[in-house]
Amino acid sequence: MFFNEDHEYIRDLAKQFAEKEIAPIANDIDKNDEVPQRIYDLMADMGFFGLKIPEAYGGQGMDTRTYVCVMEEICKKSITCSLVMSSCNSLSTAPMLLVGTEEQKQKYIPKIASGEEFMAFGLTEPGAGSDAGSMTTRAVEDGDSYILNGRKTFITGAPFAKNAVIFAKTSPEKGAKGITSFIVDMSLPGVSVGKHEEKMGLRGVATSDIVLEDVRVPKSEIIGEIDKGFTTAMKTLSIGRIGVATQGIGVSQGAMDEAIKYMKDRKQFGQRLADFQALRFMMADNEARLNAARLLVYNAAYMMDMKQDVNKAASMAKYFATESALEIVSKCLQMFGGYGYIKEYPIERMYRDVRVLTLFEGTSQVQQMVIASEILGR
Ligand SMILES: Cc1cc2nc3c(=O)[nH]c(=O)nc-3n(C[C@H](O)[C@H](O)[C@H](O)COP(=O)(O)OP(=O)(O)OC[C@H]3O[C@@H](n4cnc5c(N)ncnc54)[C@H](O)[C@@H]3O)c2cc1C
Repeated sequence: MFFNEDHEYIRDLAKQFAEKEIAPIANDIDKNDEVPQRIYDLMADMGFFGLKIPEAYGGQGMDTRTYVCVMEEICKKSITCSLVMSSCNSLSTAPMLLVGTEEQKQKYIPKIASGEEFMAFGLTEPGAGSDAGSMTTRAVEDGDSYILNGRKTFITGAPFAKNAVIFAKTSPEKGAKGITSFIVDMSLPGVSVGKHEEKMGLRGVATSDIVLEDVRVPKSEIIGEIDKGFTTAMKTLSIGRIGVATQGIGVSQGAMDEAIKYMKDRKQFGQRLADFQALRFMMADNEARLNAARLLVYNAAYMMDMKQDVNKAASMAKYFATESALEIVSKCLQMFGGYGYIKEYPIERMYRDVRVLTLFEGTSQVQQMVIASEILGR
């Protein structure tokens, strides 16, 4: 209903890639806290980093549904391996694609699309998470530049980013309406990266603070208009939410695949686990919930491809698919009994990895706020 033959063809390629290249090393990535460069090289060769970036800027120019197909297949095996790809296709490039200059698009996007350079997305601060509009990072005009001071926190890929989109207050008295977005070269004097956070899951892609101390950023690196950065951030996150929702359906299916294999193999009381009605019903609940989540995600992707407003649809997809994923993966772990708690089985890693999905790119409560505002008004 949502997909054509081209979508299915690319889904199949991604599925083969994930099964052959990612599945055998997914637990090692978690253990070693590192994604091998070889995986990124293969993903770059397959064009995954620029999947939905326009061809004019070095991407594949594919639609959101193609992106969803590829992300879903990768996340069945490892959400971690989807992180850089999802960032390149949404958070890193969306601000420039939405409101950037032609020069910025030509200068930065082709290198992101090819996987040559990574651009981080710096919105969150230690004191400003869900309430991003209360950020305190300052940008003060000085001749043909702005001087930035502040600290961004939990920034995905900060240690290996070549550049970062940084949101800073240019007119603090205007609150969220006084924020501007900048492209900051991570090698500029005054830019440093905080410690590598020890995370519960998604191990393999570093998350760190970005500290800005008197960083001089040329005006040519302002994305969009002065004081209009918050709108750009919110529009970007709305695009990104479809990616996180897809991570939710991917990991849910991955966990169910693992549990189904295990239940058909393991016997207790002289019966396969797959024959116990209590576990069969649990699996039936999982299947129903996952398919409902899929429809919301596919619908949001379809609406985006049809150039419709996806604000509510993307939030509903992210909210339902990620909350469902927590429940589905947890139930799958239950089906493994004590073995689910042992690192030898991928379900233990999936249980830790999935936990972040209701937290980043807007918590579940933030999604509820967005959905409620759309139906009840602000
Ligand atoms: C692994 C990881 C990677 C990340 N990557 C990035 C990145 O690349 N770039 C970036 O900018 N950020 C990133 N983040 C930050 C992430 O987006 C924030 O953690 C998230 O927005 C929540 O902010 P917070 O952690 O400050 O929680 P808070 O905003 O302090 O929320 C705490 C709790 O209060 C609830 N809450 C807050 N306000 C309300 C309200 N009005 N009504 C009801 N409940 C409310 C929240 O839902 C939550 O349950 C990342 C986070 C993690 C964990």
